[in-house]
Amino acid sequence: MGSRTVRFKCLHSNHCCRDVVCLPTPWDVLRIALNTGEDPRRFLEFLTPDEIKGIPKNDPTWLMADGNRYLMALTRDPKTGCYFLDKKTRFCGIYEHRPILCRLYPFKLRETREGKFHSFTLHKDVGCLRCRDGVVETKPLYDLYLQDRIHQDDYATLVEEFNAEDRPGRRPQEFLNLFLEIVEAP
Ligand code: SF4
Ligand code: SF4
Repeated sequence: MGSRTVRFKCLHSNHCCRDVVCLPTPWDVLRIALNTGEDPRRFLEFLTPDEIKGIPKNDPTWLMADGNRYLMALTRDPKTGCYFLDKKTRFCGIYEHRPILCRLYPFKLRETREGKFHSFTLHKDVGCLRCRDGVVETKPLYDLYLQDRIHQDDYATLVEEFNAEDRPGRRPQEFLNLFLEIVEAP
């Protein structure tokens, strides 16, 4: 059955929205575009290995374009942070539609040896203040985790399709053509 709660309270330090690169899935991108009317070609950027550390070379979401590797990320300004961070309120401007990764931060899933749900704890290797002064239900978190797993598989399949056709002069932005028709149809 696993733990029903995890102790955590967000202290709104803004660290995760200002300093951390957010990697959305195509499903996140579509949800954001459809619900906010924002243009994915503006709120996304494609980062090279020099611009993002800690992602293994064999991660299935690396895009190959013109022989180089790229990761799709939410556009981020080094000073002001995420494209969607409201500059006045310092809260997420698309909170209801934000990527699953943002919803799961800083929670870390723990599973049993059999691969079943055990509990959630807090990631140790992140800059979150990790305040334990609150209680969060784990069921919605686990549902999100399972949904993200499916979305990541879909993402990897799309990337595989994209990478199978790398050619000189290709830009990583062309990856968006594989799934943006839904929001760009006339
Ligand atoms: S989408 Fe919202 S929650 Fe996610 S990093 Fe950007 S501002 Fe923060
Ligand atoms: S880093 Fe932690 S405390 Fe700061 S805004 Fe993000 S979740 Fe909240």
